[in-house]
Amino acid sequence: MTTHAPQSAQTTPSVTLPVSLDEAVAALSAMPAAVPVAGGTDLMAAVNSGQLRPAALVGLGRISEIRGWQYQDGHALLGTTLTHARMGRPDFAALIPALAAAARAAGPPTIRNAGTLGGNIATADPAGDSLPVLAALEATLIIAGPGGARRELPVSHLLAGMEMLRAGELIGYVRVPLLHAPQVFLKATGRTGPGHSTASVCVVLDPARRGVRCAVGAVAPMPLRPLDAEGWVASLIDWDAERALAPEALTAFGEYVAAACIPDQAPDGTPHELPPAVLHLRRTVAVLARRALGRALS
Ligand SMILES: Cc1cc2nc3c(=O)[nH]c(=O)nc-3n(C[C@H](O)[C@H](O)[C@H](O)COP(=O)(O)OP(=O)(O)OC[C@H]3O[C@@H](n4cnc5c(N)ncnc54)[C@H](O)[C@@H]3O)c2cc1C
Repeated sequence: MTTHAPQSAQTTPSVTLPVSLDEAVAALSAMPAAVPVAGGTDLMAAVNSGQLRPAALVGLGRISEIRGWQYQDGHALLGTTLTHARMGRPDFAALIPALAAAARAAGPPTIRNAGTLGGNIATADPAGDSLPVLAALEATLIIAGPGGARRELPVSHLLAGMEMLRAGELIGYVRVPLLHAPQVFLKATGRTGPGHSTASVCVVLDPARRGVRCAVGAVAPMPLRPLDAEGWVASLIDWDAERALAPEALTAFGEYVAAACIPDQAPDGTPHELPPAVLHLRRTVAVLARRALGRALS
């Protein structure tokens, strides 16, 4: 482990560069004010805008054990510092197509070269492109804690705030089931070229469980799962034959997903008029969901 002392205690944080996950956890535990940094794309934006003034940084870039992936019981165990650029490559796309598609859409090349999977999850920005994919795949996180402790929790629990990272803990790995079936990620942005999602949809087929899983990103603080729409459309698919659906069914699925995520009625059933911008977002979600399912089934 290397530690660089600050030049000026007032302005420059000390930087520690551990070479193992447990060393990183030990460094964080020893310095409660320290902040982990992976690619730095989100963290440095916060520092540059004056929102964050970390007294110390623990860099994760030299930890080789969390830079790649390995296979484990029908799952892929993805290291937290896998970059978007690496996940976008064809060998990864053959493994988890929707996560590769999300990684390819995650900002301009400079950001994709530095930005990591773990940073995307820890930042938990509603527009984070990996988040709806991980929600649809029902991925879990392996959290590394002090004393070599490991605990596993669903990504959705962290994103929903049901569970938090405790002092000294780090996201070590992301555990993703390998479904060997079509999966599609689509996003809409407010501009041409790379940009943050205004809405995103991931659709994953799970033939073994005869299921369709869908998650919608960017329209709420966390990815949303339209479970009734998933169950309804899965019941229409002939899983033993050609898995095709009529265009009307695809359109109905899109509408069902959009209505579940952006309802146009209050919980008591009273209809309310949506502002034009929200109505537009709702239509966008409907189109993305229809297209994503259509592509997954084609
Ligand atoms: C210009 C620009 C465009 C962008 N476009 C997109 C986009 O289109 N789509 C998208 O999804 N994102 C986008 N981003 C956001 C960003 O690139 C991603 O969220 C990226 O994945 C963050 O990863 P990182 O390694 O850079 O995180 P860092 O900046 O290193 O860290 C981010 C936060 O996560 C914490 N952290 C990092 N790793 C861990 C870990 N293992 N355990 C616990 N906490 C951890 C850090 O302490 C920090 O709080 C964009 C950012 C910029 C600046």
